[in-house]
Amino acid sequence: MKVKAFHKLSYGLYLIASEYQGKKSGYIANTAFQVTSEPPQMAISCHKDNFSAQIILNSGAFSVSVLKREVNMKIIGDFGFMSSTDINKFAGINYLKGLSGSPIVTDSAVAWFDCKVVKSIDLGSHYLIIGEVIDSDELSDEEPLTYQYYREKYKMFSPKNSPTYIEKSKLEAEASAKAEIAEEPEHEHIFDGENYICQICGYSYNPEEGDPTMGIPPGTPFEKLPEDYKCPVCNASKEYFKPV
Ligand code: FE
Repeated sequence: MKVKAFHKLSYGLYLIASEYQGKKSGYIANTAFQVTSEPPQMAISCHKDNFSAQIILNSGAFSVSVLKREVNMKIIGDFGFMSSTDINKFAGINYLKGLSGSPIVTDSAVAWFDCKVVKSIDLGSHYLIIGEVIDSDELSDEEPLTYQYYREKYKMFSPKNSPTYIEKSKLEAEASAKAEIAEEPEHEHIFDGENYICQICGYSYNPEEGDPTMGIPPGTPFEKLPEDYKCPVCNASKEYFKPV
């Protein structure tokens, strides 16, 4: 089996949210898709360890916000790499209250769906949850974010609870076995000794490139970054970075 084959599957990126007994939860997922048209139903996949899993199953409802291509990275960092048990992900975020009772995040979203759970299937590590769409809206004509665009732009890997998570060692083994390794720019960073990796989200700081999103010019070594430098993806501070 070749794990890189899984990167050829196309996905979008979505923010899935729910609420039960006043507790809100939300996470970023690439697995959200329409499965029937009449009635309209959607499927999502949620890791059993995610705080959201029990919230969705207990409330019987969830919302899906379709993220835009130029997404606010703080949303990805907070909802994708932090736990609702540690931070309030909804602080400072614009959201609506859906008919299902779920919060619906409208920041960085081009459309949303409000769903009532009709079925859940235990898949071992994850639940596959089917919901009937009871309401939806289109918010903007901007392009939706795709998983491929996100992965290539941020040189990111899926977090461990993602259904599409691939162990980095498996990708590295395939990359080193490949003769044309130069065709794999994603992996050059992995082997660059001067890079620093964010331990929370996997973002790689490359001193040759700097960090234009945070105003850091190319050629800035990690040690010379300002003390208040934050990971552009998950907002983690410098102490969370480790050299490769
Ligand atoms: Fe990070």
